[in-house]
Amino acid sequence: MARRSALPPIPDFAVLRSRLDRAREAAAGTGLVIAPGSDLRYLIGQPGGSFERLTALLIPADGTPALVVPKLEAPGFVGLEDLGVDVITWVDGVDPYNLAAERMSAPERVAVSDFTPALHVLAIRDALPKAEQVLAGPIVRELRMRKDAAEIEALRKAGAAIDRVHAQVGEWLRAGRTEAEVGADIAAAIVEEGHTEADFVIVASGPNGASPHHALSERVIEAGDVVVVDIGGPVAEGYNSDSTRTYAVGTPRDADVAATYAVLQEAQQAAVDAVRPGATAESIDAAARDVIAAAGFGEYFIHRTGHGIGLDVHEEPYIVAGNDLPLEAGMAFSVEPGIYQPGRWGARIEDIVVVTADGGESMNNQPHDLVVV
Ligand code: ZN
Ligand code: ZN
Ligand code: ZN
Repeated sequence: MARRSALPPIPDFAVLRSRLDRAREAAAGTGLVIAPGSDLRYLIGQPGGSFERLTALLIPADGTPALVVPKLEAPGFVGLEDLGVDVITWVDGVDPYNLAAERMSAPERVAVSDFTPALHVLAIRDALPKAEQVLAGPIVRELRMRKDAAEIEALRKAGAAIDRVHAQVGEWLRAGRTEAEVGADIAAAIVEEGHTEADFVIVASGPNGASPHHALSERVIEAGDVVVVDIGGPVAEGYNSDSTRTYAVGTPRDADVAATYAVLQEAQQAAVDAVRPGATAESIDAAARDVIAAAGFGEYFIHRTGHGIGLDVHEEPYIVAGNDLPLEAGMAFSVEPGIYQPGRWGARIEDIVVVTADGGESMNNQPHDLVVV
């Protein structure tokens, strides 16, 4: 049984202080308003929660950062004074948006974190009618997509944990059971192996495998099915795993599975091999896509090759055509090409790869072969 501490670990305060400083620098004169969620967790070590009452971290272009928080929720945040973040509490009946506007002191532009509820975004607009509102995502991603050693260690821990789950899938995946039954066993193992929760469990059997984001259904798994299993969740530090392997229940019923799967395996490896500092995100996508297209399956690879991963399962950088971002050491993302045969079967191979000084390091190390159970 995995041991769990009462409070999630908070990064070193020196690390958080430096993130707050760098966020202000990256904002370059724009005021930042950060709602609860992954951005807040990245900056102050604690995600908080979004409700109808406003909680938000304010980072004015000049002046001390402050957390505006309902008085009844303030005890949920620790150590803010030590971080150099003022705490501005408010009680019901007070307008928290005016408190926030005072603290921001008439900025020309306010960047609001991407997942701020609209009810707060529009009220902030009303309280700061002269400020242009923009998204904070492009500012905060400049920090978040370059992982430090502790963040990579947490991704490595998450990767090892999900690898241990994939290593056991053969115990649960068999003909006669439903996808939902197999998924329940996998979800329990995700927690047992060291995640705080099972964030997502995809068991896509037979024709369901052709739907990349199929979750679970009552379909009874049959002998001969190809089954896509895509699973992940966060570890205590908040960083996520995300790994896909494709299984076959006995000999696949479709005669084209072995040859098609070999193309997918080659494509996934080509993309991983292309990872190095200076390569563009879109070049990694092309490395996988070219192999699949050359084999005649281009129209069956219906999504980008990957997504960044960290405190969110999907974040920057996206490994997609049109993204000419040059990769840098410390960037972490999935490499997950798939081939989906509508109405018949599908396959995907997914590992998380971190860019190193001269290449890439996989956080997942389970074999890539079609796993016959
Ligand atoms: Zn996905
Ligand atoms: Zn996945
Ligand atoms: Zn993924």
